[in-house]
Amino acid sequence: ASSIVWLRDDLRLDDNPALSHAVGLGLPLTVVYILDEESPGIRPLGGAARWWLHHSLTSLAAALAEAGSTLTLRRGPGSRVIRDLVAETGAQHVLWNRRYGGPERSLDAEIKAWAAENGIEAASFQANLIFEPWTITTGSGGPYKVFTPYWRACTASGEPRSPLDASARLPSPAVAGSMKQAGSDALAEWSLLPVSPDWSGGLAETWLPGEAGAHSRLEDFLDGPAQDYGTGRDLPGMEGTSRLSPHLRFGEISPFRVWHELRRNFPREATPDVGIFRSELGWREFCWQLLYANPQLATRNYRPDFDRFEWQQPTAAELEAWQQGRTGYPLVDAGMRQLWQTGWMHNRVRMAAASFLVKNLLADWRLGEAWFWDTLVDADAASNPANWQWVAGSGADASPYFRIFNPVTQSKKFDADGRYLREFIPEIAHMDRRAIHEPWNQPDVQAYPAPVVGLHESRERALATYQKLRKDQ
Ligand code: FAD
Repeated sequence: ASSIVWLRDDLRLDDNPALSHAVGLGLPLTVVYILDEESPGIRPLGGAARWWLHHSLTSLAAALAEAGSTLTLRRGPGSRVIRDLVAETGAQHVLWNRRYGGPERSLDAEIKAWAAENGIEAASFQANLIFEPWTITTGSGGPYKVFTPYWRACTASGEPRSPLDASARLPSPAVAGSMKQAGSDALAEWSLLPVSPDWSGGLAETWLPGEAGAHSRLEDFLDGPAQDYGTGRDLPGMEGTSRLSPHLRFGEISPFRVWHELRRNFPREATPDVGIFRSELGWREFCWQLLYANPQLATRNYRPDFDRFEWQQPTAAELEAWQQGRTGYPLVDAGMRQLWQTGWMHNRVRMAAASFLVKNLLADWRLGEAWFWDTLVDADAASNPANWQWVAGSGADASPYFRIFNPVTQSKKFDADGRYLREFIPEIAHMDRRAIHEPWNQPDVQAYPAPVVGLHESRERALATYQKLRKDQ
């Protein structure tokens, strides 16, 4: 007998219940990652996420080798690949940590049914969410639609389980008795990295994908920004947040580990900054429970009345100006350039840049969601659409449509000295802290684009379009 652990959005050895279970079985073990671009409904990864995946798998393969195991790479529809692997290795156990998206759950259910028919154990574990969607429900048994009561219910549901330590040794994958070792693709064959042009230089400078990189990010955060997170998290010009998002997205660090490390470092719960950070982790969980209840979150308005909203198709020039950070509004442009260069954007700036697209340019939020999906290293199937819908006003517990971020006011408030703007927009870096927020008022602004739309008119147009939706109801 032997077993298979199928790693998916949990590219780690620490606090990995499926892997720990396999260690307990003590049978020869195949650890597999499957690049599945064929199963129905699975959303293909964006470019930045593919870059991340390549490096994360490289790091995972090294960690597995150190623990006496290997990483098997296969490409194809998940259910076929698992059936092939069972046939090749004679495995009697297939183990994985759960995913919560619609197509992924169908795929897992299909494999479970096949395993049951064939006398094979298929067991799944909780690893990637602290509060699984079906465990937190309202009094009437449905999903929560509003974050605050949701999070209150989560935190009242008891202390999350302790994380499991990584096993120093994993069962050997080597030939044992009649057992064969599964063949693997070479990672390079998957062509996950960009070639021409290779736009990944800024990503490589910014990130260390993999479990070790994730843990060092957490340590750095706990030693520094965590102490002052309540204020620091709003200032894009400093490292005030954890930057754990891509690591959490790929499961290189367990949310249970993050939770308990916070507890260990800040034993007295009284620290408000820690509570605020914990509730941000809660937003991640909330987004996943929204996706669980609404598998089409990335394509359908959560609020169906928005199906009648009169989005305007932006001109190619407008859309490109937004994508390339040339709208003429420094905060939006700095954010969009940060995204392009590093694969990440500060949360406050994400809100401002998204609001600019859906409100000032009146473009359908799905256009922005798709661009973020392709360019973010943390592009997440739940958090990305949920946040876009939040900004657009079409989502659950959404920002009211009439709240339109003013990029000038926002940058004056949250980047008062212009440090963030200067870092990403060299054309205006010479301007002083007062001038830089409204460069169009300056005589020496030639190199920087003029605003693509006026803030006042575009705001009035957005409000009028929204009023129309409400009146038609
Ligand atoms: P921290 O402030 O350190 O927060 C810790 C963790 O909490 C994050 O790593 C993340 O996992 C979670 N978190 C924080 N804020 C949110 C939030 N609003 N929603 C869900 N989870 C949150 N986050 C993604 O992980 N993937 C996305 O694809 C994504 N798309 C977004 C799109 C838009 C338009 C907006 C406005 C926000 C989006 N976010 C997304 C949420 C948020 O901007 C990022 O999670 C955050 O900026 C990541 O940086 P951090 O790890 O330093 O966050």
